[in-house]
Amino acid sequence: MLLHNPPLTPPFEKEGDKRQVHLGRFAPSPTGPLHFGSLITAVASYCDAKAQHGRWIVRIEDTDIPRIYPNSEQHILQCLDAFEFESDVEIIYQKDRLEYYESVIEQLRQKKLVYACECTRKILGSNHIYTGTCREKNLDFHQQAIRVKVADETICFQDRLQGQHCSNLQMDLGDFVLKRRDGIINYQLAVVVDDYLQGITHVVRGADLLDNTERQIWLGRLLGYPELTYMHLPLAMNDQGQKLSKQNLAQALDPNNASQLLKQAIAALGQAAVDLDSPHKMLAQAVAQWQVQRIPTGTEIQGIFQ
Ligand code: GLU
Repeated sequence: MLLHNPPLTPPFEKEGDKRQVHLGRFAPSPTGPLHFGSLITAVASYCDAKAQHGRWIVRIEDTDIPRIYPNSEQHILQCLDAFEFESDVEIIYQKDRLEYYESVIEQLRQKKLVYACECTRKILGSNHIYTGTCREKNLDFHQQAIRVKVADETICFQDRLQGQHCSNLQMDLGDFVLKRRDGIINYQLAVVVDDYLQGITHVVRGADLLDNTERQIWLGRLLGYPELTYMHLPLAMNDQGQKLSKQNLAQALDPNNASQLLKQAIAALGQAAVDLDSPHKMLAQAVAQWQVQRIPTGTEIQGIFQ
């Protein structure tokens, strides 16, 4: 169902409630099956929220339709079930929320913070920093990529595990894409809008996303959203020294081996051991014992994972 004027305020603002609650999330993209690295993120985000008596939600980040991998959405749901992770609100799917993202682009357009860009990949070549070629061209938005303007300003945040992290987006990246020419909404926009609309307060995710954070903070500031607290977890590596990822063909999580895998994920996070039991009881024990200061620091977890 398409919404014509989607409400762009999170539920707590409507209720006049001022985000008292710690609200965390697990936001997988169905671009491949979940792997051990995804489990680490799910466990850490869950325990971190629940240890603060907060809430935890699941969101499926499926805006990049061409990259969706067959059956991976099903695998995500099957794993959540087998590992007995329960989202505190109904799971949302970003592909059903395109109108929210379009409305936010429209808000930004009215403030002249975004513009249409006709540069093709061929024109841009290997230059990773966009120099603003189309900034002043005033192109029609139809069937063009949409970029957001950045400024020559250093953005810093204090990561709970990685310490201070900074970027000057103009020097490091240039104006970045919020919507592709093929109409696909970029992850950076969708994640910022949904974290806000769902009232997320704490982001816990893999350190591979550390460098995306300043872009998200920048967008959040342009939109007047409150700043979030970030924790980027060290990444589990394979025997080739590469991070576990869909691209490196990390082994899919086996829902039939949930308790064992959960025990390993809790251990990989440096937490006190939990007794082998039903996933529900193991998660409850992990929450009761949760200590952020035990999580290994750095961007890689020592040990070899599959
Ligand atoms: N959807 C992203 C992924 O699967 C994670 C987004 C996030 O946690 O901000 O890599």
